[in-house]
Amino acid sequence: MKGDIVRIRDVEAKRGTTQRGFVRVGETPVGPIQFPIVIIQGTKPGPTLCLTAGVHAAEYPGIAAVTQLTRSVRPEDLTGTIIAVPVVNQPMFQARAGFLSPIDGLNLNRMFPGSPTGSISEILAHVLLNEVVVLADYHIDCHGGDLTETLWPYAGYSLTGNPQLDEQGKTLARLYTPRIVALYEEGTPLPPTKGSLTYTAAQRGVASVLGECGSAGTLEPADVEIHVRGILNVTRFLGMLPGDPSVQGDRLRAVGQFTVTARRGGLVHLKIRVGDPLKSGQEIAEIHNIFGDIVDRVQSPADGIARIIWTHKAVNTGEPLVRCWIVEPERLDG
Ligand SMILES: [Zn+2]
Repeated sequence: MKGDIVRIRDVEAKRGTTQRGFVRVGETPVGPIQFPIVIIQGTKPGPTLCLTAGVHAAEYPGIAAVTQLTRSVRPEDLTGTIIAVPVVNQPMFQARAGFLSPIDGLNLNRMFPGSPTGSISEILAHVLLNEVVVLADYHIDCHGGDLTETLWPYAGYSLTGNPQLDEQGKTLARLYTPRIVALYEEGTPLPPTKGSLTYTAAQRGVASVLGECGSAGTLEPADVEIHVRGILNVTRFLGMLPGDPSVQGDRLRAVGQFTVTARRGGLVHLKIRVGDPLKSGQEIAEIHNIFGDIVDRVQSPADGIARIIWTHKAVNTGEPLVRCWIVEPERLDG
């Protein structure tokens, strides 16, 4: 960020100050649709990091982590600028809605780059991307399992083909995640997918990372802590805050994924937990009919790690039970 003052609409932060405000994107019949913004303008000039949460606004640990960081980072300790949007999708937040906007029924994280003349999710995507995220050198979009998902934490980056940018993005994803790194490339099924904020920001030249932790509408302190540690690791690595990143254990690279679906309707009795390593042929669930007879024994079709377990336990034929990563040890050269 050039100069001593950072300004987004009427929120203006001079060097050495923190400022809060709102960016208005539209209206309901009863009032504004807007998102909150916090600008921390460090005492010393340096890089700009944007933090967003609540693109999916029932994924609470990321929202809590970004909010916490905006309150704990002091301008006098900060080199550079943090621009934070603690809850992007306020209509979803208010409605406690999962995945889809209660106003236009769209998934905001498939709408980027959005449109200034579209429906409210498209306008929101356009304003957030063009007036906030592209001002930054680096960006983290905090997500988690949504209302119906129990999720194992990971971080992702969408490769662009620009070697310098991709190196930055991969490095930040490795610093953010407690274990799994997913890298999207054209044609792969891995996140962060086309149309997401992270994908689109990287296409626009921002080293933008997807940070995923949290489950099923909960706000567990341990999940908030994973987001906070990831953000602090990135911030310290970039030299924006004092201290060194703290990274423990090996990283695993996701190289594929598969989803196990129900062949029979009934009640699912799972035999695994999220994060469990699975072997091909391992029995992972029984499906019982309403009399308690076992009508199917579900096996894993491949080796993997349980990545998402859906919270619904009464299933119809064809519905997902578990999504798994296929992983390899992370190659730090690639
Ligand atoms: Zn999400």
